[in-house]
Order: sequence, then structure tokens, then C-alpha cells
Amino acid sequence: MKTSRRDFIQTALAAGLSGCMSSRPPEKPLSEYQRGALGKIVGELPPGRYDAHMHIFVKDEPKPDEFWAEMRRCGLDGGCLFSRWVDSAAPELTPEKLMDRVIGWCAASPTLYPFYWIDPGAPDALDLVDMAVEKGIYGFKVIRSDGLPCDRKTMPVYEKIAKAGKPLTFHSGILWDNKPSSDFFRPAHFEPLIDVPDLRFALAHVSWPWHDECMAVYGKLQAAEPAEGRRLPQMFVDTTPGTPMLYRKEVVSKVYQIGYDMKDRVLFGTDASVSHYDKCDWAKPFMPADERILRGIGLGDDVLDSYFRKGLQHFLFG
Ligand SMILES: [Zn+2]
Repeated sequence: MKTSRRDFIQTALAAGLSGCMSSRPPEKPLSEYQRGALGKIVGELPPGRYDAHMHIFVKDEPKPDEFWAEMRRCGLDGGCLFSRWVDSAAPELTPEKLMDRVIGWCAASPTLYPFYWIDPGAPDALDLVDMAVEKGIYGFKVIRSDGLPCDRKTMPVYEKIAKAGKPLTFHSGILWDNKPSSDFFRPAHFEPLIDVPDLRFALAHVSWPWHDECMAVYGKLQAAEPAEGRRLPQMFVDTTPGTPMLYRKEVVSKVYQIGYDMKDRVLFGTDASVSHYDKCDWAKPFMPADERILRGIGLGDDVLDSYFRKGLQHFLFG
């Protein structure tokens, strides 16, 4: 059965409100926050801790209440959920269906934001950006494991996403995909994004093990002078592991100690999936570990709030 956007908005509004009330309510009444597409809170994220990097790996119908309840048990207050990818082994999951599914998984809270996993090299990529925006999708995710991230096919897709005002998270760093692909994920290959005005994009995993290169690209973009009459993109650093715990202190410390302006440009994420949040075995250790690292290098509550909330707020809403 095809579900219309209006049905989703009504479902999300109802489920969002009841889901929120049945767990811990935000500290401010919801009415104080502006509501956007699908009944989501926009503009300002309520106080709390957010996960900027979550996945759907299963093909199942959404179970939004179970997912949300497990997230809350793990101490998270919302975040971004990436759709499943277009998969030739599951032809029934069309792009439209995948968008509807991620919207459905996010329906239990107004602080869960659906992202669509797009192949920017696909012939219909530009049309899929339109479809996603029309459905109320909040952002995009790209993992391009069969080519460099920026070429003549993909750049118009990023430009369209930027014009729509939507954020874009790229996989960067080594990927366990059973094939030689690392060269496609080196941070320096994302430099052409310097020519996409106003694009808010994140490199996930601090590009581990190329985290130094990731920060060098960040520094270069921040120091760039826009050509006359043009605007620059905004790069964000997504610290989702990635990093084995052995490297965690080095990577997180370097992000904040390198000396660049990182204010509201760093995103905490877990890489947890809708069906694995229940164990908390991946999400749980990194949150206190990161907090210890940040406090250990002398950073206070304001930076922690930026790391766990305001960075994502800036990424989502500009
Ligand atoms: Zn991921």
C-alpha cells in the first residue's frame, strides 16, 4: 500500500508527540520549538545528547517505538538516521520505499531526523533529491565505494542538495566492504566540495586512519577565501567510530586541540543500527569515553553541549 506524505506527517506528529510524552519529555514544552516537515522540531534542538550517525541495515518494516525506547535507554535524545541503500538483492526496496521506511523508523520522536542514502553517481540521483525533499527528508548520506566522491556526475547532485539547504554526510576513512576501495575515501578527494557554495557536509569517522588528513582538509576549507560573489561550503567533522578505542584519545583530542575554530562543527555519532541499539554495546562506551577525553583536555560543559547537541543543530539547520 502506498502511503502519502500527508499520512506520514499525521503519523509522525501523533507518534512523535505520544512517543515523547511516554518517555522523558524535553526540558522545554514542545510548543516553544518550531515544527517542520513530518512534525519534527527545527531550528533548535532541545537540551540533551544526540547521535548524528545511525543506520538501518534490516529490510524489516519500521518498528519506531522499539527503536526509540532502546535509544532512550542508551541515553540518547534523538539524531539522524540513514536509510538503507538501494540494493539489487532487494529490488522491492525502491528509493521511494527506502525513503518511506526511514521516515517510518523516525516516527516515534520529533527529534529523530530521516536522511536518505543516495548514490550520487546514479542516473536518477537529481530526481531522487527532489523526491526526498518533497517527502520531508532532512538530509543525505553518501558512501561511494566505486568511484571518487567528486566528479562530473556527482557534483551537480551536491549542488542541488546545497540549494535545498539539506546537510550531507559522507563516509570517509577505511571501509570494511570486502573490496579495494580505500582510495575513494581519502579526505583530500573531498576538496572539490570547496566549489559547492553553502553545502553543509560532514566527513564521517574523522576519516580514520586518515584523521590528520581530514583535519588538514578542514583547516584548508576554513582558511579559504571565496571567489568574488561566491560562498563557501561548511565542513563538519563526524567523530563516529571508526576509530578503535586505542586511537580514540588521539583522534578526539586532535580535533579540538589542532587550533582551528571547531565551534559547533563537530558531530558525535555511534554508527549504531535500529536493530542493534538494544544492546547498547557499541553506543554506550564511546559517549562516556569521549566525555572523559574532552574533560581531560580541559574542555567544559559548553564544549560538551556543542559536541553532543549544537554541532548537530548547526549541521541540520544551518
Ligand atoms: Zn556509518
